[in-house]
Amino acid sequence: MHSFKATPIKRSAIRELALNLRKTFGFEQDLRFPILEVAELLLPQLDRHYSFEVVEADVLGSSHGLTEREGEHVTIKIRDDVYELAYQGAGRDRGTVAHEIGHYLMHARSTTLHRHFGGKLDTCEDPEWQAKCFQGELLVPKHLVQGMTAARAAEICGVSVCAAEYQLRLYESGK
Ligand SMILES: [Zn+2]
Repeated sequence: MHSFKATPIKRSAIRELALNLRKTFGFEQDLRFPILEVAELLLPQLDRHYSFEVVEADVLGSSHGLTEREGEHVTIKIRDDVYELAYQGAGRDRGTVAHEIGHYLMHARSTTLHRHFGGKLDTCEDPEWQAKCFQGELLVPKHLVQGMTAARAAEICGVSVCAAEYQLRLYESGK
């Protein structure tokens, strides 16, 4: 199934990474994280070997987004319809952009990916799990949403109800 495995990263470390990204840009207390502003305008100021591209659907096919590394340079590519929906505030599409930022920070910028030749892969060394985890921790941050209902958190954080439910359940269980 998996062709890559990553250096294992625990949820607690991924939460810290997400919080650090918020702190870097002064968004620690912002319930609605400005994901496109960060991906499109702020990250390029921080990393001159980074770019953000909106691409036509036929370039990416069924992928909503992709993070590509070429030598020193990393590009996040987002499908144009996904970009448009994220711009309008759609939770799922904001999530796609956050997911790719997770790949950028954990897999493209630091070389933590290794080829995986079968056998069991622990959850925390699965790059897709790591990016999904980052997406949830960034957009539905523990320090701001505890005690909220999923519907309220979804609305205020700009994520799908499903994503909000998932994060809140984790926090309620003490994770
Ligand atoms: Zn992914």
